Amino acid sequence: MTRVLLAAIMHEANSFAKTPAPIAHYERQGVFTGDAVVARYADTRTEMAGFLEQARAEGWWIATPIAVPCAPAGPMSDAAFALFRDTLAAGVRAAMPLDGVLLALHGSCVVQSEPDGDGALAQAVRDIVGPDVPICISLDPHSNVSDRLAGAVNAISAYRTHPHTDHKEAGLRAAVMLTRALAGEIRPRVHFARGHQMRGFDSSRTGPPDGPMHRALRLARRMEAEDGDVLEVSLQSGYVMCDVWHVGPSVAVTANGDHPRFAALARRMLRLAWDERAADTVKLISVGEAIAEARAVPPGPGPIVMSDFGDAPGGGGYGDATHLLRALLDAPFENTVFLSLADAGSVRAAVAAGVGAIVSLSLGGHTAPEHGGGPIADDFEVLAVSDGVFTHEGPYTPGVIGHFGPSVLLWCRGVRIVVTTYQRNIVDLAQLRIFGIQPEDCGLIAIKCMDAFRAAFTPIARAVIVCESGGVCSRVQTTLTWQHTRRPIWPLDDDALVAAAAGYDA
Ligand SMILES: [Zn+2]
Repeated sequence: MTRVLLAAIMHEANSFAKTPAPIAHYERQGVFTGDAVVARYADTRTEMAGFLEQARAEGWWIATPIAVPCAPAGPMSDAAFALFRDTLAAGVRAAMPLDGVLLALHGSCVVQSEPDGDGALAQAVRDIVGPDVPICISLDPHSNVSDRLAGAVNAISAYRTHPHTDHKEAGLRAAVMLTRALAGEIRPRVHFARGHQMRGFDSSRTGPPDGPMHRALRLARRMEAEDGDVLEVSLQSGYVMCDVWHVGPSVAVTANGDHPRFAALARRMLRLAWDERAADTVKLISVGEAIAEARAVPPGPGPIVMSDFGDAPGGGGYGDATHLLRALLDAPFENTVFLSLADAGSVRAAVAAGVGAIVSLSLGGHTAPEHGGGPIADDFEVLAVSDGVFTHEGPYTPGVIGHFGPSVLLWCRGVRIVVTTYQRNIVDLAQLRIFGIQPEDCGLIAIKCMDAFRAAFTPIARAVIVCESGGVCSRVQTTLTWQHTRRPIWPLDDDALVAAAAGYDA
């Protein structure tokens, strides 16, 4: 019987965030081991669900030692990384002899003392299984792929949508490549190249109908169609919040065997990324500009959705920056909801006071007042209390269960405010519904997210406005503090200098 190991260890790190993410950060979102992985993931639309579907279809014997879902934050703590890596490695050893391995990684797992967590995980598996067992992986396109990661695996398949709605398809593609390798049809090898820029491919956005990512995806599919030995051209736009040497866009061409033409395809794709480096379809504006823009939106059905890019938990933001909330309290819109502020102390105080009580709080802004504003001192009415557990409706990973931790819905000066114990990216309408709020009926919904919210929120929105509050995901601030990335690199260094280093003509 064919023996295959399936595992997922996913982390997206903002290496500028002050505090490392401890084991508890992952455990409260759900770390599963053994048979519990199958039970939890089989009915989702995750990459693990794609792995499991292929395993069932092929009748593989499977081992599922660990699945850690993606819960973006600061760097993973050394203790969490050691636990996950050692659980994975023990699972691999116990399952030997293996015929193949499928791994779902994120690609931007910075660890406290290890800038390349993904590479370290893949290499740990390779060291145990030896050189001849195929390892196929899926990635988020917001990956900074290291040479070690690309060198340790046989096939790479990143999602092709952003907001991401094709996790399962990426997992299936990796699993199909593994199936063909196990049948002896192909000998998959990764041919890899990295660009000379920190971001590119419009950060993988596929929302804009004819943006740079669509052009790159079309070229990728054409490269596959024109050469039967090109199995997958995987695009990674990079994840700019990581201060690591290997930051930035890369292309992984998974091909049948070795030939210089495969790496040439990767370099050709990166030249396209360079030529379109300045193409960015999201214009970030200040909080004040966002409020003014919202005032100018004509009346009509559906809410105005206003997102704070700078404090997005999905980008490792603390989720407690207050600039945007303060602006809305000072000039509220009709029927406004703010989702959410992470402030465990305020939640405890509001829960103790009980529904209907008025509590005086110093709300939010405790982690880093210099990044997006300090606490708001005011009186708040407690409207509702919740355990903060929600199940994604989709289209972003439907079926996945998320945890805000104990949470409350507060009222202050015309604004309903969700306050949670843990910070969470806002990507799903269920995150409002658990507080008794029907998002379709709101006038204005203010959230914290970079781009992922668009899949669920754009279809119901009268207008979408994205601003930067100055939080730790803010592009402007982070570009000032890079210490570890390779140089020269765009946009930190002069275009001509980077182009000369890259060997690009003008
Ligand atoms: Zn992503």
